[in-house]
Amino acid sequence: AKSSGANTYKFARRDVNSYAYRRLVIEQELRVAVERKELGVYYQPQVALTDGAIIGAEALVRWRHPTRGIINPGDFIGIAEEVGLLDQIGTFVLEEACRQSAEWTAKGMNPKVAVNVSASQCQRPDFARDVLTMIERHGIEPNMLEIEITETVAMLDPRTTARELAPLRAAGVRLAIDDFGTGYSNLASLTRMPFDVLKIDRSFVSECVRDGSARVVVATILTMTQNLGFETVAEGVESAAQREFLLGQGCTFAQGYLFGKPMPAAEFEALYLAKRRS
Ligand code: C2E
Ligand code: CA
Ligand code: CA
Ligand code: CA
Repeated sequence: AKSSGANTYKFARRDVNSYAYRRLVIEQELRVAVERKELGVYYQPQVALTDGAIIGAEALVRWRHPTRGIINPGDFIGIAEEVGLLDQIGTFVLEEACRQSAEWTAKGMNPKVAVNVSASQCQRPDFARDVLTMIERHGIEPNMLEIEITETVAMLDPRTTARELAPLRAAGVRLAIDDFGTGYSNLASLTRMPFDVLKIDRSFVSECVRDGSARVVVATILTMTQNLGFETVAEGVESAAQREFLLGQGCTFAQGYLFGKPMPAAEFEALYLAKRRS
């Protein structure tokens, strides 16, 4: 028993050290990455379920690491947040998304672009003003930009969130609640929030064919949001069976590997043009 205790201790210690070490390496490399412009943005299509036309794109950050290749946000967003780099990264993504949107408009394309915003980013008092300045600087239509805030972050302090976001909504920027169903919103507070779009979390969508209770959750969210006048996007649609179920429940928009993974802007453009309504 003693020796196994010792082993456990050694293992735990090594684990802690390797986590701390990995974190330190990522932190240092990430600081350099931001300066060296190693961060980039991928775009995942959002489609109309009825005809598959691409109506928008979600902007998702990627790290083009010089030796390790493309790194997904799951492997660095948490650390970036802990060490205070996420604001800077978020501002970069927002700026790049606005620039890309202006370029697409100039090319005669009109997908709306949705950008994820972190808690610390949207809680800054200047957040709304900064976004509006950026929109103006890039000369894009406010309604081509959508800001995604997770349900959990939005509902931490619903009154403050609503107040801070009001100027964006008033200017025509679209506001979306991300990962809906994973937080604890109540209906009353939801209707007082300035949101246009509700994104149903992938955890429910991916189970909605297999699992009865996930099916009920998705159906209930769809009924509720339609009655309250929200647009809905189902996230993480991977199969035709899921698409059929969602269509049958009156869901209008979707996003997921079935329609396209996150991809570089040039690839998104090609797909957008191929799926364009004739
Ligand atoms: P999210 O906002 O929920 O974004 C959707 C994630 O689900 C993306 O992962 C996307 O690749 C993945 N996904 C989409 N469709 C499917 C599907 O059909 N199946 C599966 N298995 N996955 C699917 P990604 O790009 O790795 O991003 C992960 C998370 O990182 C995002 O989750 C978001 O919370 C965060 N993130 C990404 N970019 C940014 C950013 O610029 N700022 C902030 N604050 N967070 C970001
Ligand atoms: Ca999102
Ligand atoms: Ca999401
Ligand atoms: Ca998610």
